[in-house]
Amino acid sequence: MLTKIFGDARMTYRGVARQRAISECCLNTDLMPRWRGPQVMDDDSKAMGWVCHSCGREFLPADVENRRLIRAE
Ligand SMILES: [Zn+2]
Repeated sequence: MLTKIFGDARMTYRGVARQRAISECCLNTDLMPRWRGPQVMDDDSKAMGWVCHSCGREFLPADVENRRLIRAE
C-alpha cells in the first residue's frame, strides 16, 4: 500500500503535457497526498503536497481541504 502511493505519485510527474483545465479536472477529483516519508503517512495535515492523479498536477497544502481543491489559479 505504501509503495502504491509513492509509485503512483512518481509516475504522474511524466505525461503532464495533455491537461484538462484545473476547473474541469482537479476540482472534481479527490487529490492524493504526497508524504515526506512513511513515518508521517495517514496524517493529512502533514502532507507535503497534493497530487491529482488524473493529470499529474500537484497543489500546495494551502489550496487543499479535505482532499479537495478549494481554490484554483
Ligand atoms: Zn487534475
